[in-house]
Amino acid sequence: MRPAAGPPTPPSLPRELHSAPLRTIAPVATLALIVFAAWLAWQQLPLQSLAALACAAPAAVATWLAHRRATHLSSAGLLLCLVNVAGCLLAAGEMGHRALPWSLLALMANFFLVHNRIATPANLLLLAGLLAIPGVLRTPALDTQALLVIALIMGFGFRLSRRLQGDRTQLELLASLDELTGLPNRRALERTLMQQIGSARNGRFRSALVILDIDHFKDVNDHYGHTAGDNALVELAAILRLELREQDKVFRFGGEEFVILAEAGSRETLASFTERVRESVQQSLHGPGGGITISLGAAMYAGEQYWQDWFSRADAALYLAKGNGRNSVVIADDLG
Ligand code: GH3
Ligand code: MG
Ligand code: MG
Repeated sequence: MRPAAGPPTPPSLPRELHSAPLRTIAPVATLALIVFAAWLAWQQLPLQSLAALACAAPAAVATWLAHRRATHLSSAGLLLCLVNVAGCLLAAGEMGHRALPWSLLALMANFFLVHNRIATPANLLLLAGLLAIPGVLRTPALDTQALLVIALIMGFGFRLSRRLQGDRTQLELLASLDELTGLPNRRALERTLMQQIGSARNGRFRSALVILDIDHFKDVNDHYGHTAGDNALVELAAILRLELREQDKVFRFGGEEFVILAEAGSRETLASFTERVRESVQQSLHGPGGGITISLGAAMYAGEQYWQDWFSRADAALYLAKGNGRNSVVIADDLG
């Protein structure tokens, strides 16, 4: 089954992982700030009410970004972290000691919104503000109990957020690796292609997509069993790793198909690289029934907006390579 041409769909797991805290905290912060603005207006404090609304607006933008955009999540987190600090200082200025519970909430929330590197200084800034505003932590004596709770929240928040960041990195890694061969999987390929196309200056870069497919692989499974087939896949992955140059990347796309994202200055370089890979596999890959070969289809990047279109050209070339009797290479520009 081939990926259809069309707009890119970002892999869902990493996006969900990153946006989950923001999705929960951003709407709550927006709502709390709107209610606060209404309360200030009711207290005949129009300027302060406007200030609260000015904080609610970026919180609403962060809510929208968290739900609608896969990109800009870190900007949305930073925006909300700053809104938390500003909103709490505003509340502390107007409500004094009664604003403290909201500040505790914001201190904890910031650790889930942004990296420790940002959350810690932002929280220290908030703490300094709370100490500077009379009647919040100085009432007039220093509220040591509240300070102790703040210190504990900062400590727990810091540790918990570090742990979550570590788990998230681990999960992302696991989700992007193929279990059998240890190569990056299709999810990783899609992400890499989207990034590469997205960051291409003038829509151009000198890369090629090479799709490899084992020839008559079904026969290996049918005659020698699934384990023999698995062994051949692992062996092929090892050969490909060895054949790749430093600047190339190989992925297991699925089944007995692999994809190489290769740097290729010209069609000729690509032709010699793919031919070298084909030959090396022919010489080194052996199943219980003898040698195993691959067919390759390759396409230089030609300014496509969507990776699926680029992939389709390489796939059409692979189809021709199969039609040529297998154990062969076709470069897409040959299609004429
Ligand atoms: P062709 O030369 O046209 O590519 O023929 P083929 O037999 O290689 O292609 P086909 O699509 O008919 O069969 C692919 C086979 O790959 C069928 C499936 O059982 C096998 N396969 C896919 N994934 C795995 C896997 O992870 N392990 C094993 N052992 N077999 C797999
Ligand atoms: Mg296949
Ligand atoms: Mg095959």
